[in-house]
Amino acid sequence: MDKQPFSEDAEDLYQNAPFGYLSMHTDGSIININNTLLEWLNYERSEILFKKKFQDLLSIGGKIYFETHIMPLLQMQGDVHEINIDIKGRNDSKLPALINARRIENTPHNKPVYRFSVLNITQRKQYELELMIAKKKAEETVQRLQQINKELEQFAYTASHDLQAPLNSISMLLAMMKRKGYFTSDSDGETYYSLIENNTSRMKLMIKDLLDYSKIDGADKTFEEICLKEVCNSAVSILHYEIDSSKAVISVSDLPKILGDRIQLMRLFQNLLGNAIKYRSAAPPEITVGSTETENEVQISIKDNGIGFDQKYAQKIFEFMKRLHSHDSIPGTGIGLAACSRIVEIHGGKIWAKSEPGKGSVFYFTLPKSRS
Ligand code: ADP
Repeated sequence: MDKQPFSEDAEDLYQNAPFGYLSMHTDGSIININNTLLEWLNYERSEILFKKKFQDLLSIGGKIYFETHIMPLLQMQGDVHEINIDIKGRNDSKLPALINARRIENTPHNKPVYRFSVLNITQRKQYELELMIAKKKAEETVQRLQQINKELEQFAYTASHDLQAPLNSISMLLAMMKRKGYFTSDSDGETYYSLIENNTSRMKLMIKDLLDYSKIDGADKTFEEICLKEVCNSAVSILHYEIDSSKAVISVSDLPKILGDRIQLMRLFQNLLGNAIKYRSAAPPEITVGSTETENEVQISIKDNGIGFDQKYAQKIFEFMKRLHSHDSIPGTGIGLAACSRIVEIHGGKIWAKSEPGKGSVFYFTLPKSRS
């Protein structure tokens, strides 16, 4: 291919611009082509000029598109813009291109000419392809994860449900053996009995919490209008035994209405109020439930005067089965707050906590007022 030496004149700009240019007669025969396009197509000028028509540089589909779309448009309206087409180079190499074209009327020989500019979009096509592959992979991964998640939830539900029956049998047998005097105080019997008893109660608690957790379903929920004050009061009445035995005082201010799932929200209040009682200090629990509102969401706070915790664990405690206290000092499974977190997430809100050891804790969560 004959390359011109560098100069800043118009001819040099035409020949070596980062665009391809070509001109053709109305039947498609090419009468001019610039160096850049020749280089992209790997042809010599002498092989193209007056020897090839633009249609010869197109695939069969491209030819049909050229004849039925590009040419008629050029004849009727005089120009076409941003046509995406592949141009064939030597040995059937492909140049993905975006072309603009214009009909020029006032030529010296009075025959109209079509001028084409050709933007090489090889890289863009490559990116598009990579993006498409990445998107497809991401979609497949999400689908796989959703499937695994569903199977895990199903497994957790079945396992915890099915484990309940044999565990209840063990408890009953143990009580019967105790009644019949199998665990005598003169041997290690008493110790063994309380060890088995403690462990079965612990396992029961775990299975119950796991079962409750696996029942929190986020799929296709239809939310109804819920009065949060009513839901909170229902949670308080479920906790009456814990409240009475700890002499807890719970004051609930006026709470707004939102759209949500009644059972899940009750469990949310029940878990947070239950913890506020369970992690109490020597003084009887004083718990305040309050709310603030912005235009789009409500923020609920549950404040206690309990033992508190180091703020550096404020995120950890919402993780599944994460606890700051041993089971022997305060029984628990570390599932309650993970359940709260899941419920709030299903409702489109956020949950967090602020605390200091010995100074009580405040748990906050937000809920959107409407569903978008
Ligand atoms: P569990 O109470 O069964 O251990 P949770 O998930 O409800 O499980 O709580 C996780 C941990 O967070 C608890 O073990 C406890 O250490 C801490 N925690 C939760 N609520 C409070 C609270 N109101 N005051 C102090 N610590 C709390």
